[in-house]
Amino acid sequence: MRDWLLWRMRPAAIGYVLLVQALALALVVLVFVTGRQPGADDLMNFAALASTAGATIVITSVSINIRRQIRRDPWTLHIVYLAAGILLLPPNLLVLLLLGPTLHGVLHDRPEAHRWLFTTAATTVATFAARLVAGWDEPVWTGSSFFAVGVVLLVVRAVVVAGGLQLREPGAARTTVLGEPIDVLLGIVGASLGGLMAVAMVAAPLAALLAGPPMILLDLASQLPQWRRSAQHDGKTGLANSTHWERLARVELMRARQRQQPAALLLLDLDRFKRVNDELGHLAGDTVLAEFARMLQKNVRRDDLVGRFGGEEFVVLLPGTQDETAYRVADRIRASTTTLSVRARDIHGENRELTGLTVSIGVATTGRFDYELTDLLVAADAAMLAAKAAGRNAVTVA
Ligand code: GH3
Ligand code: MG
Ligand code: MG
Repeated sequence: MRDWLLWRMRPAAIGYVLLVQALALALVVLVFVTGRQPGADDLMNFAALASTAGATIVITSVSINIRRQIRRDPWTLHIVYLAAGILLLPPNLLVLLLLGPTLHGVLHDRPEAHRWLFTTAATTVATFAARLVAGWDEPVWTGSSFFAVGVVLLVVRAVVVAGGLQLREPGAARTTVLGEPIDVLLGIVGASLGGLMAVAMVAAPLAALLAGPPMILLDLASQLPQWRRSAQHDGKTGLANSTHWERLARVELMRARQRQQPAALLLLDLDRFKRVNDELGHLAGDTVLAEFARMLQKNVRRDDLVGRFGGEEFVVLLPGTQDETAYRVADRIRASTTTLSVRARDIHGENRELTGLTVSIGVATTGRFDYELTDLLVAADAAMLAAKAAGRNAVTVA
């Protein structure tokens, strides 16, 4: 227990996590104490739901384990059978469905037990909040109660989990706390599928199995944001990778051409970067690249396109920017680079403060080179090499 990462969190976060877990536990106890004896129909429904859920959890877990992939968030799959269970089962059998996330946890050997316990508690709270809305003893089957079950299940769980994340990492990005838009869509698909599953099971409990294949597909789809991010972004700096950047830049240049607005391209190459690697090691070099990327983004507007072109080379497209402004932005970046101070561990494991970085920047503008990305890149590259030749730590306009 002492090794649990839970105890390393901030006190407010620990308090919140324990509160959610206590609430979940209280609900489970309440349900067992006050529940009625399930009938034969209830048991049939439970068996059909639990076996469908169990089979999909095992199939998706095994396939993910075989492919040695990392699952981002297995929640989408659980929404389906939980929503169906909320509409169909007595509360004491519904509690048993919450063993589904537990099974998932076991099959995945999740490294942080407290985190998984917390999300399972959040799921429990959300499930019974939805049940309360639908009708505790006997859920009401109207269009609006189906709708309400889906909304409460998704919103309550999202709010409880987001609260925990916010307390644990107050500065976390919005997508980390709230998820991406596609997560919302997948949640809605899951809840809808759960509603359909419940309706089909009234005709025949075994119709639950029909939801199995779409549940597996839903689980696969929930990996989409992860795949997209790794295909479009560079892992070391979080910036757009060169393929993604080029695609975005072409679209942006086309738009600028249509609107007859100027744009500028900066190509940046860190000076004598090989020395950083040679003196401090490649990991320290990576830290410098990440810090440089962060500084770069801070120095440009939200709509400017920053990308990692390759190794220690970066590109920025500045739409709607006149030549003089482009030069000023480039020079501001150059100056900020010289004041950058990066803490990194060297090859001996010692913490070091790295300063004195410089960068050479080539600038090419649509005013001189028109709107073809390749022409702009060639011109900016030549200008950057001219800045190197002029002694580095310089900006040259092509
Ligand atoms: P110059 O001022 O002429 O640009 O000198 P330089 O040393 O920066 O130029 P050179 O192109 O010779 O070396 C670039 C170095 O960048 C070599 C390579 O080890 C390093 N590098 C490229 N990508 C990465 C990376 O992802 N991580 C680390 N740590 N180093 C990288
Ligand atoms: Mg280079
Ligand atoms: Mg270089």
